[in-house]
Amino acid sequence: MKLRCQNEFFRRTQLTHFHMYSLPTGVKFFQRGWLSSNNVLIHDSDIAVLVDTGYWTHAVQTHALIRSEIGEQNLTAIYNTHLHSDHCGGNAHLQTCYPDVLTLIPPGHALYVDSWDLQTLTYNPTGQHCPRFSKTGLLNAGDTFKAANLIWQVHSAPGHDPHSVVIFNSLHGILISADALWENGFGVVFPEIEGISAFDEVESTIQVIESLSPRLVLPGHGAPFTGVESAIARARSRLNQFRNSPDQHATYAAKVLLKFKLLEIQKSTLSDFLQWADDVTYLKLLHTNYSNGVSLEPWLHELCMSLEKSGACTIDDGFIHNLN
Ligand SMILES: [Zn+2]
Repeated sequence: MKLRCQNEFFRRTQLTHFHMYSLPTGVKFFQRGWLSSNNVLIHDSDIAVLVDTGYWTHAVQTHALIRSEIGEQNLTAIYNTHLHSDHCGGNAHLQTCYPDVLTLIPPGHALYVDSWDLQTLTYNPTGQHCPRFSKTGLLNAGDTFKAANLIWQVHSAPGHDPHSVVIFNSLHGILISADALWENGFGVVFPEIEGISAFDEVESTIQVIESLSPRLVLPGHGAPFTGVESAIARARSRLNQFRNSPDQHATYAAKVLLKFKLLEIQKSTLSDFLQWADDVTYLKLLHTNYSNGVSLEPWLHELCMSLEKSGACTIDDGFIHNLN
């Protein structure tokens, strides 16, 4: 999951400034809503590589987007930056549409894909779904590949996810950043939910990105952006906030998990929604460690009220509705 730039995830209004950018021939950026990650299609007449495939509920749309760009040409390969459900949820469908497609994933979770370990792959503890897919190879840090007549380098980018990678083209200074860097922050630092320290990894990944000096970032969520130095400064500031106040990160993480489910289901009775949340391991962990003695249901209810206050949902007449 992947989820989203700090406050931007909950913000009622869109960013008002618009960044002009252009992409080299053969590089196509599909900006999706927050439920699905963005996708980058890198193609020429011989090869078509899709970086990340979105959430499973949007898999048909993901396929349509690919076809809108390459028509009847085959998709050669899927490269997943990491295995959160909103980044690889379309893998299974695309493997059906393109039986010969290669599927390369970062090595850290490879064994768990083979055994389809829902716990380690985080689909169970996040309360999310990802249709089972198979891998055909690995996307290792240090690998390079050529597509659209450009060389792309793979760099490891732990923090948000311990096994995430980012992909960089030095000629054009284009970074496919996944959830390691957004225009305003970075994705939830998932290991921290499980009590595994990972803020240092976020910082080291920011340093790696800084050393690459990207000119243009194609993030996992939100619009492409330039002004990368400012984005890095904002990410560092956010990271410092979280380091100084881990409960802020915990609240953010809990709200992201709730909002993600709302994006998926759009509407529910509040009682059914809270019952679902009651069962989500990561929410229970966050509650145990950060609720200051408030019992689970009132704590979840308070988070829903907070989402409503920020314009992310409405709660009315016993129902909760997604907004934005
Ligand atoms: Zn993610």
